[in-house]
Amino acid sequence: MYIVLLGPPGAGKGTQAQRIADATKLLHVSTGDMFRENVRNETELGKLAKTFMDRGELVPDEVTIKMLLERIARPDAEKGAIFDGFPRNVVQAVALEQALASNGGKVDHALLISVRDEELIARLGGRWMCRNCGRLFHERNDPPKQAGVCDACGGELYQRDDDRPEVVRTRLEKQKPPAELIGHYRAAGVLTEIDGEQSLDAVTAALLGALGMSAA
Ligand code: AMP
Repeated sequence: MYIVLLGPPGAGKGTQAQRIADATKLLHVSTGDMFRENVRNETELGKLAKTFMDRGELVPDEVTIKMLLERIARPDAEKGAIFDGFPRNVVQAVALEQALASNGGKVDHALLISVRDEELIARLGGRWMCRNCGRLFHERNDPPKQAGVCDACGGELYQRDDDRPEVVRTRLEKQKPPAELIGHYRAAGVLTEIDGEQSLDAVTAALLGALGMSAA
């Protein structure tokens, strides 16, 4: 099964993708995490991606699609995956579909998490991420047991550079799922929209419900 998770920055895609991957045992593929790993390792791809990420802009399609296709060509993606942060537009969606179709696969579900702008701005300001394992926390909605320390691995928590207020506004403007992308999945009959302003657990339950599963 292949699932794409759509939603504006701060809608909870990362957190929910982790939860759905745990519940379904599907591979979690986050293009944002892949770019951040490349930035950390100072690869050529990382250096290029950083110039866009720091401004809150999307990395060019050509670069992003190449990275994603290389990832899904690996054997652990054969049985399915949940895509978090990809596709961001129709060009990326079509590239994904063509790659999956070459192995007899398709996007089975597109789950759109909707949240209002005011709420997104409040959320992005309070986000903390583990430097070691990438797990996400939120000061208000999902705090770690001990401030600054990851519950999962004990790693150090930090705030992403692109969660700064001026960058947040650009990300919201440039990175909301475009109407054409939502329309693309609606026309394919695979779109489910979920209210992302419910509690984290309620959003997880709604997402699993859309996949025909119940929360454990
Ligand atoms: P995210 O963690 O999904 O918010 O992604 C962090 C940053 O990585 C974004 O602000 C973009 O600069 C870049 N990025 C992640 N996924 C994509 C994508 N599918 N297309 C283009 N840029 C992306």
